[in-house]
Amino acid sequence: MENCIFCEIARGKIPCNKVYEDELVMAFDDIHPMAPVHVIIVPKNHIATVMDMDLDHADVSRAFFRAIQAIAKQKNVDQTGFRTVINCNEEGGQVVFHLHLHLLGGKKLVDELG
Ligand code: 5GP
Ligand code: ZN
Repeated sequence: MENCIFCEIARGKIPCNKVYEDELVMAFDDIHPMAPVHVIIVPKNHIATVMDMDLDHADVSRAFFRAIQAIAKQKNVDQTGFRTVINCNEEGGQVVFHLHLHLLGGKKLVDELG
């Protein structure tokens, strides 16, 4: 997908602080962290929103859960706890239209829903 910032990051065209990678997904530190740990997990292939996930993406879903566990351990929040968030479309607060999951932790998170 052209002009997609997360496609560019996944292709190595835009630098990032990579924290995890396998054949299907990669993860990097958020450029504007909202918590001491704020990692973005993306599929390597372009999928716009969570509503575009279908049965063909079952392997991508599995890769997301593997990545969540590996990154939580790597960032030392697996025991203390963390939060995962996927924003979808405008009212969900999605700004980058390449599916991504936020993994947040490293402090006691407060509930903020808008
Ligand atoms: P959204 O609101 O779409 O769920 O979140 C997009 C996230 O991507 C934001 O937290 C934003 O800080 C992050 N982000 C946007 N552009 C870049 C970038 O070029 N590099 C990195 N590392 N994060 C980005
Ligand atoms: Zn993309």
